[in-house]
Amino acid sequence: MNARIPYTRPSITEREMRYAAAAVANEWGDRCYDSIHRFEAMFGQHLGVSHAIATSSCTGALHLGLAGLSVGAGDEVILADTNWIASVAPIVHLGATPVFVDILPDTWCVDPIRVEREITTKTKAIVAVHLYGNLCDMDALRAIGERHGIPVIEDAAEAIGSVWKGRRAGSMGAFGTFSFHGTKTLTTGEGGMLVTNDAAIYERVLALSNHGRTRGQPKQFWPDMVGFKYKMSNVQAAIGCAQLERVEELVARKREVLYAYRQRLGRLPGVAMNPEPPDGVNGAWMPTVVFAQHTGVARERLQAAFAADNIDARVFFWPLSGLPMFTPARSNTNAWSIPSRAINLPSFHDICAQDIDRVCRVIEGCVDA
Ligand SMILES: *Cc1c(COP(=O)(O)O)cnc(C)c1O
Repeated sequence: MNARIPYTRPSITEREMRYAAAAVANEWGDRCYDSIHRFEAMFGQHLGVSHAIATSSCTGALHLGLAGLSVGAGDEVILADTNWIASVAPIVHLGATPVFVDILPDTWCVDPIRVEREITTKTKAIVAVHLYGNLCDMDALRAIGERHGIPVIEDAAEAIGSVWKGRRAGSMGAFGTFSFHGTKTLTTGEGGMLVTNDAAIYERVLALSNHGRTRGQPKQFWPDMVGFKYKMSNVQAAIGCAQLERVEELVARKREVLYAYRQRLGRLPGVAMNPEPPDGVNGAWMPTVVFAQHTGVARERLQAAFAADNIDARVFFWPLSGLPMFTPARSNTNAWSIPSRAINLPSFHDICAQDIDRVCRVIEGCVDA
């Protein structure tokens, strides 16, 4: 049996270990938030935004941000049908109704025309998720948001390193969120971040993230509202500081891996991979292959071929509306069809050329078969 190829794995160096050890040894008492504050400041600077709040996860960051926008019962929030459950769970927890719209066939991100069609008097927010590092059409989405007075939010969990016309993914919406889960390009094990340029959203989310205690509140142990507890730990933030100092290197390597796959697989007949806008950058979190309908190549065949070669390839996200707790939106034809003929490829930073070759040969074998 060939050696196992995992699909993701973080890139951890001596620097991450040193920063974590220093935080464990020294940062307690008065210094118990030192690494958190440093990580937040560095992250805000990297993204070009004025405010950043470290959280325990991206899911938590989304929950805080949506609560900060007062999303609640009776409201609707529009997002792509193709997504991980994390992008919709906070909407449901807040009592709002998710409205699932179709994706575009080339970027696999939300279709702005479908978004505008679904806007009602109840629409409270639009969530733009940059799927697999691919970019949403932010010009179109922001124009729609402005036309209707509805905030556009970016879930940029998969898009660190992605850039839309000179602006980093996550920095263009009312707020943006990130994940530092162990599978993501930059990791703290578990963790997330909320970023915004809006001082009012920042203050509200900061209070909500601190059990509802506002910054100006002089009384101790005095919450002004019922909030949340979604904080990142200081030791995780120390790891994040080390990762962030390496962010250019981490993203560059992910892009190299995507490029290597695209060079070889992107030219196969009937095969599409993650696109890059001409005036943008794809952070290349998850190299993905989508077969055209006419090829007849199906997910199950791809899964079986990768399993036979001991390679951990993953399925493209199922349409959320097809999950048992939602109502099937079968008119979202791209979201319902693409996953049945697509697969995510292994892309960890230190994957070697021989392993990329093994992965490519599996795909080539499926084309020939
Ligand atoms: C990973 C991911 C999340 C969830 O992140 P957690 O940190 O695990 O909560 C949310 N949205 C998207 C788009 C993701 O890829």
